[in-house]
Amino acid sequence: MMNDLTRLYTHPDCELHEMPRHPERPDRLRSIMSRLTASGIISETSVVLASEVSDDILSKIHPETYIESINKSEPESTVIKVERDTYMSRGSLRASKLAAGACAAATRDVLSGDARRVFCAVRPPGHHAEITAAMGFCLFNNIALAAELALANESVSRVAIVDFDVHHCNGTVDIFKDRPEVLVCSSFQEHFYPHRYLDFTNPHILNMPLEKDATGDQFRARAEREWLPALENHKPDVLFISAGFDAHTEDPLGELRFVESDYAWITSQLISIAERFCGGRIVSTLEGGYDLDALARSVETHMGTLIRDSLV
Ligand SMILES: [Zn+2]
Repeated sequence: MMNDLTRLYTHPDCELHEMPRHPERPDRLRSIMSRLTASGIISETSVVLASEVSDDILSKIHPETYIESINKSEPESTVIKVERDTYMSRGSLRASKLAAGACAAATRDVLSGDARRVFCAVRPPGHHAEITAAMGFCLFNNIALAAELALANESVSRVAIVDFDVHHCNGTVDIFKDRPEVLVCSSFQEHFYPHRYLDFTNPHILNMPLEKDATGDQFRARAEREWLPALENHKPDVLFISAGFDAHTEDPLGELRFVESDYAWITSQLISIAERFCGGRIVSTLEGGYDLDALARSVETHMGTLIRDSLV
């Protein structure tokens, strides 16, 4: 049965961004979409085609000089290196502006009441992109833009961003480090990329390092103790999720041991918080996840939970 309040925002042109022999590859989205189709998730939700974000909207979180430098960097052909781990090909600008545009539209639509829970199946990811720096496969910080746009709405005074990617969300922290109205909860493998902001302490920045080989049970225990009370205390008006799935035990980059049921658990917990404090409003976007099959199964679990879990 179609559930119109839970939506999937995506665009096939997010596949245009190509990096040579790179784990953050177009096949990630193809694998997700084919799994969601085969499992029937697609037929249970509304699929919305994203539009490119404007540079004016992007300038809410990145200075115009940075956006201009990225705009000028796209090559006509071949591939150029933007920084150590991040490249641009012809089509990267369109893909990255569709990714940010999906998150912007999702935020607009949950605030208007047209949608309640949205997952953005987009790439490139965004949570490593700092105010003035592309990093770690990311050009623009998609979830930070979404949170910033929500805060521009007069009905929104506090938001929370929960990031369960295996990597710490240095970009999101960089953007909101002095903004106590934005609670950032980030779990990550300790002593691991990006080696920035890992020890940054601030009452609204909750870093949750997990030891190599930590299981989903260990993650759940820590999240119950450290995240859920903080979220209840913060009482966000909208809940944002940086949904990276590279903490999965089958992921080739991470060394944690999450499985699909752990993603179902955290998604359910966040739904419960959103129902209590946020009018049910959740905007979630894809970050990492590099084993094509594990990624697709994890997104199926996350999206399926968003669709089916106690939607009232
Ligand atoms: Zn990651």
